[in-house]
Amino acid sequence: MLQKTCTVDFLTKKRVDSNGEVQKYYVEESHPAIIDKEMWEAVQLEMERGLVFAETYGVFKLDYATLDNPFAGRVMCGRCSSIFGRKTWNSTNENLKRKVWMCSNRYKVKGEKGCQNKHIDDKVLYQTFINTVNAIIENKDYFM
Ligand SMILES: [Zn+2]
Repeated sequence: MLQKTCTVDFLTKKRVDSNGEVQKYYVEESHPAIIDKEMWEAVQLEMERGLVFAETYGVFKLDYATLDNPFAGRVMCGRCSSIFGRKTWNSTNENLKRKVWMCSNRYKVKGEKGCQNKHIDDKVLYQTFINTVNAIIENKDYFM
């Protein structure tokens, strides 16, 4: 895109985004692309899919995931389609302290049980994910 900005004051050389002050020109194939057109279009589709996903499931931020918590914002409730969140169940006994995932609609109203779906243990979720990835790798030809 040429002439995205224009100089509004030649003395101060102040430039602003062009909003119709000057004609913009879109030049195709003027220089080698960083990524090919097919990849760019695939990324646009993925971004659009992400936005639709977020809107469908009421996710406010698309990427909650961190190295410490890679499943954040990615586990959905099979009953009500809400997001599962990771909670720590504390106990005075260190051995009973555990991390679990549960539906965010479980206790939406304080003291009142909402969604009836059960929690899932953090370790079970990780192991299930690993098993699934391994099954995909072992059956790579089928999935390709
Ligand atoms: Zn639920």
